[in-house]
Amino acid sequence: MLFENLNIIDPIKKALKLEGYENPTPIQEQSIPPILNGRDFLGCAQTGTGKTAAFAIPILQLMINKENPKSKSNHIKALILAPTRELAIQIGESFDSYGKYINLKTLVIFGGVSQNPQTNALKSGVDILVATPGRLIDLVNQKFIDLHRVEFFVLDEADCMLDMGMIHDVKRIITKLPVTRQNMLFSATMPNEIKKLVDSILKDPVRVAVAPVSSTIDTVDQSVYFVSKKNKRSLLIHLLEDKSIVSALVFSRTKHGANKITEDLVKSGISAQAIHGNKSQSARQLALSNFKEGKTRVLVATDIAARGIDIDHLSHVINFDLTNVPETHVHRIGRTGRAGLNGIAISFCDEEEFAYLKDIEHLTSKSIPVVEDHPYAISITSPIINNDIKKKTSSNRPSTKKSNSNNNFRKNTRKPKPKRI
Ligand code: AMP
Repeated sequence: MLFENLNIIDPIKKALKLEGYENPTPIQEQSIPPILNGRDFLGCAQTGTGKTAAFAIPILQLMINKENPKSKSNHIKALILAPTRELAIQIGESFDSYGKYINLKTLVIFGGVSQNPQTNALKSGVDILVATPGRLIDLVNQKFIDLHRVEFFVLDEADCMLDMGMIHDVKRIITKLPVTRQNMLFSATMPNEIKKLVDSILKDPVRVAVAPVSSTIDTVDQSVYFVSKKNKRSLLIHLLEDKSIVSALVFSRTKHGANKITEDLVKSGISAQAIHGNKSQSARQLALSNFKEGKTRVLVATDIAARGIDIDHLSHVINFDLTNVPETHVHRIGRTGRAGLNGIAISFCDEEEFAYLKDIEHLTSKSIPVVEDHPYAISITSPIINNDIKKKTSSNRPSTKKSNSNNNFRKNTRKPKPKRI
């Protein structure tokens, strides 16, 4: 399938060519025609599938069809809600790129920074507003923003918004929108709360699920290192001696942990910066752009800060801490191996995280090869998975259980494998 076959107008096609896009991704193939036909859309898709262009391209096209291209923007016609500042900025950049040859104005607003530049920009007219929910509500309440003429509404990463406690704000924003509008909702997972939201927002939507959460990882080469909690930082420094790790996104469960890891790396002469919610917006943006430009080799992030971050050509993802939510693991490793490229994901696993590893393997129906040849290897490995554990593990439900029994472990009987990093 080519973009040619999707009836995309020339200025957008020209911009896509400039971006180097040749063929639509599966979600784009399935979203662009119905959205152009005015249908509501429900996409079960995660970052890395090309979902941003899946809504941005048809929205731009529909807007240009309705607009006199020379007319000045005087009201917001498209509203895109995103859970994090980083994701909002990326979406804004995508609209700017795909709309490069179209005269429509995009503005991105988010909290944690002064509102003045945002309110000034709003005064000069905006067609497409990309926003995080909190700041949007603030500016609506202060009457800087009027949403009464929004024609296109996108809720991106809805499940993440739920995780971050933003759903209440989202519902309040929806009450400010006109009744007649075209809606698009994207979510990597569909917990019940999101299903309810879908039913209340979308009218007879076209439903498309692409690359189910457990199958997007086929292009990622995964391995796991068993290591005690106290030796994880030494293991990380040891692995980073390998210069073939050009860039690594390291996931830490906590903000404090992210800071500690970063400090230790820097002390060892490895360029690293941390990105998490306690950092100022400017510090986060700087860390991200330094990493994207290759100025720092390692970016240490918490899940929420990293969600949706799009980094071209990321060579490695390192899960310093395994997550207890298997779907999050898939999101994490999806940062590498993007757009069909191969990526490498290394996970550290201590005794307490062993059950998380099994949940991940269960969700993805893949067993992750264990690297045993490293200086900090511990000798506990494969669990005996009994039916009880299997029953408790569901691919749709985040697991919170911890491994608390030695019955879950047995002595390693596998032959050592060659070191793979
Ligand atoms: P997203 O899932 O929207 O975060 O997109 C993931 C990455 O895929 C981004 O770097 C996009 O620029 C890229 N991308 C999106 N659509 C295409 C396409 N049709 N061809 C090549 N790359 C794409």
